[in-house]
Amino acid sequence: MTEVRQGLFKLPGVVLKRRISPEGDVSLYLFLKEAGPVYVQAPGASRGRVRFGGAIEPLVWAAFNLYRGERTFYLKSADIKEDFWGLRGKTAAINRLLDWDGLLCRHLVPGLQCDEVLTLFYRSGLLLKEGVHPLVVEWRFLWKWLNEWGVAPSLDICGGCGSRLTSARLGTSGLHCPSCARSGGQHLSEEMLEQLRESVSLPARKVVERFHSEYFASAAAWREADERIRQYFSFL
Ligand SMILES: [Zn+2]
Repeated sequence: MTEVRQGLFKLPGVVLKRRISPEGDVSLYLFLKEAGPVYVQAPGASRGRVRFGGAIEPLVWAAFNLYRGERTFYLKSADIKEDFWGLRGKTAAINRLLDWDGLLCRHLVPGLQCDEVLTLFYRSGLLLKEGVHPLVVEWRFLWKWLNEWGVAPSLDICGGCGSRLTSARLGTSGLHCPSCARSGGQHLSEEMLEQLRESVSLPARKVVERFHSEYFASAAAWREADERIRQYFSFL
């Protein structure tokens, strides 16, 4: 992003947050390719003087035409690419997206490029749209994000002794084999462990086949795994 000092440029990305002032000025927190998260101003956007249609709604993906001034980014126009409108009536799916949006706002560093996580966020939305079970997409998104940052727990190797895992316990310090696991953590059967691995290692189109919304085996186990992987973010 250092190459763009001032002037006009166009970048794809997503609206993470929107704030409207009493005067009708809109402030957006966009997550952009190459630029990472940036604050962008759209003066008067909510007064109807400048119209961006649905492009300034949270979770909308667009190609954003921006002007970079000395200190501030301004939105000039935006071409919507994907608004995930079809998900807005599906509570379980839309709540996942809103939740990840919140995590991204909390953990990304403004101005720091993070294209891998941006792509992962987009593709995770597509998986929800294609009907993959939200609990599975949640695990996939959170684990792969942690993995991009080099802090995901290994799903193959015991965090204690380094032996290959068959069954395991998932705790806040990783997955442990039965001999290393002390009390606590979530017991993962061989089958559940294999499904957790598949959800992150299969390519997206295979994930759609494997974990479509009709798939609901051990939803409680997925829910617990999601809650536990989420705890890793409190250490970031
Ligand atoms: Zn071990």
